[in-house]
Amino acid sequence: MGTIFNWDQPGAIDRLKTLWAEGVSASMIMSMMSKEFEGEVTRNSIIGKKHRLGLESRAPTLVGRPNDGSLTKNIRQKKTPPAEVKRNIERIEKKMVAKDSDIPVEQRKTIWELQNCHCRFPVGDVGTEGFFFCGHPSASLNENRPYCEAHALRVTT
Ligand SMILES: [Zn+2]
Repeated sequence: MGTIFNWDQPGAIDRLKTLWAEGVSASMIMSMMSKEFEGEVTRNSIIGKKHRLGLESRAPTLVGRPNDGSLTKNIRQKKTPPAEVKRNIERIEKKMVAKDSDIPVEQRKTIWELQNCHCRFPVGDVGTEGFFFCGHPSASLNENRPYCEAHALRVTT
């Protein structure tokens, strides 16, 4: 940590040139090269270096240039693929939005038992036997959250 980056390291200049040509931003180059080489590259150091190397103007898009993606793969890998995100959400929802019939009896509330902290999601038909409110104690009427997380989700979607 804190070591001044030495641009004489083998491959350092080439790496900068390649990353720059790939369209990688200076701050991204900074973090990538700090990991790949000895010492810490600063943004100023990169800007200064590419200025001296005459890399100032790069084409915004590199049309027709073969790109196997290997240089930017590290960046892309950090993003979670949308399919996986969706699966995670579905998993969370499945866990949270349990069937109303699974709501524990001791959690269920009648209209008279409901307090500000109880989820007031109605289950069943009002006035019929077996009607109850969810009663989960994570709601807060004072904070304008009349439902527990699972039921709030169901109400808004
Ligand atoms: Zn609820």
